[in-house]
Amino acid sequence: MVKETKFYDTLGVAPTATEQELKKAYKVNALKYHPDKNAHNPDAEEKFKEVSHAYEILSDSQKRSLYDQYGEAGLEGGAGAGGMAAEDLFAQFFGGGSFGGGLGGMFSGMQNRGPPKARTIHHTHKVSLEDVYKGKISKLALQRSVICPKCEGRGGKEGAVKRCPGCDGHGMKTMMRQMGPMIQRFQTVCPDCNGEGEIIKEKDRCKGCNGKKTVVDRKVLHVHVDRGVRSGTKVEFRGEGDQSPGVQAGDVVFEIEQKPHPRFTRKEDHLLYRCEIELVTALAGGTIYVEHLDERWLSIDIMPGEAIAPDSVKMIRGQGMPSPRHHDFGNMYIQFAVKFPEKGWSEDPAAYEALQKLLPAPALQADMDQQQQARVFGSGSMDEDEDEDGHPGAERVQCASQ
Ligand SMILES: [Zn+2]
Ligand SMILES: [Zn+2]
Repeated sequence: MVKETKFYDTLGVAPTATEQELKKAYKVNALKYHPDKNAHNPDAEEKFKEVSHAYEILSDSQKRSLYDQYGEAGLEGGAGAGGMAAEDLFAQFFGGGSFGGGLGGMFSGMQNRGPPKARTIHHTHKVSLEDVYKGKISKLALQRSVICPKCEGRGGKEGAVKRCPGCDGHGMKTMMRQMGPMIQRFQTVCPDCNGEGEIIKEKDRCKGCNGKKTVVDRKVLHVHVDRGVRSGTKVEFRGEGDQSPGVQAGDVVFEIEQKPHPRFTRKEDHLLYRCEIELVTALAGGTIYVEHLDERWLSIDIMPGEAIAPDSVKMIRGQGMPSPRHHDFGNMYIQFAVKFPEKGWSEDPAAYEALQKLLPAPALQADMDQQQQARVFGSGSMDEDEDEDGHPGAERVQCASQ
């Protein structure tokens, strides 16, 4: 007679269920209610936790006997404490964990009815903006585990590999420990086989891999950096990653990351360029030269009288990045910083007078405003401050100008 049947009911078994029946019931229910398979059923997650908790208790003979005698109350202190997270139990039960790839990967493997898959190797591949502009193929060397060619992954001579009798091939062993009146059971890595589950006699061990079944191999992969590729794009190599006996070879994934560029800032398919020009060029015109990502020099004419204001932007159509999908180009946007001449730039007072005559006369009101500003803010640093604040950290590039 048991005190409560809740945990048995959760798993859908009788209180007389054998260890095997419990195992089977857990397996069926855990797969049925696993959150990965129940994205549209929020109740499933709760159910998954309940099933996991019930199995965690009932699969432990000590906890089970406490539960049978005293019900859930009997588990509150001591033996029942420190429950395992449902996902951890699931991973342990189905042997996830040891081969990364996560449970999502495990499920996809199960749907394909294929064996589980080795972990995916992730790498970030940093590339320059020049390389993204022109496109290139990077040859990248990779260290990975491959099945030992000498023993074909057996670890030793044919027939020399025996299942470990100490743990019956599980790699884990249940040990008992007397703690006062209590007997504590705990799981530990099998000391006979170091958790391998197998034993190979020293003399029969494969010399190629020393019984490890895999060896480290260097592989060169050719990663295509397509023209105009965006940061975050992933280049996948299926089955080129780690190999391990009894599992599918893992994948290798490179994530493209563009390094910052000293001259240009990329914004989608456009290039932003900040350029400093002299006041005389801004007012009287001239030509500026911009070195492009393929070492071409673009020349950009500023017309006399175009009057480039500080921070104004000029668009050069089609001089941006190649678009990865459509086979055209984004634009280049040039933002101008206007460099004023040094204080006292001319020794000749006539030069200032001449300039005064040349430039449009100030409106009377504007003149008044300036005088007021000077009184409030002190002399003339206002424009500079505003410029600095407006572009913190912006890269200023000196353009060659004539
Ligand atoms: Zn063992
Ligand atoms: Zn070997």
